[in-house]
Amino acid sequence: MKRLPESLIRDVVPPERECNDDRCPWHGSISIRGKATVGRVLSMKMTGTITVLVEYLQYKPKYKRYEKRRSKIHAHLPPCMEVSEGDLVKIVETRRLAKTVSHVVLGKVR
Ligand SMILES: [Zn+2]
Repeated sequence: MKRLPESLIRDVVPPERECNDDRCPWHGSISIRGKATVGRVLSMKMTGTITVLVEYLQYKPKYKRYEKRRSKIHAHLPPCMEVSEGDLVKIVETRRLAKTVSHVVLGKVR
């Protein structure tokens, strides 16, 4: 099992089984870099990919307030992870895996 940075996986439940997916951040050789975000699983209708809804706040200087924004991110889901719709998951940026996929699921958030 590959060593992931402790700061990245502190709040993540590690997978219980092994997998031989090369795109798995725990058992594969894919390199993770860039931003890590937490979002809710919206849809699991694709094979190997899930849709994650990420909500964040953006400051608007004109009104001196934050506005709520949300975006849908497609993320690769390795076979060793058990998640279902509505779960909070941590995703991390990686190289582009498909036309709309450049994130991979690290696991459920505790
Ligand atoms: Zn795995």
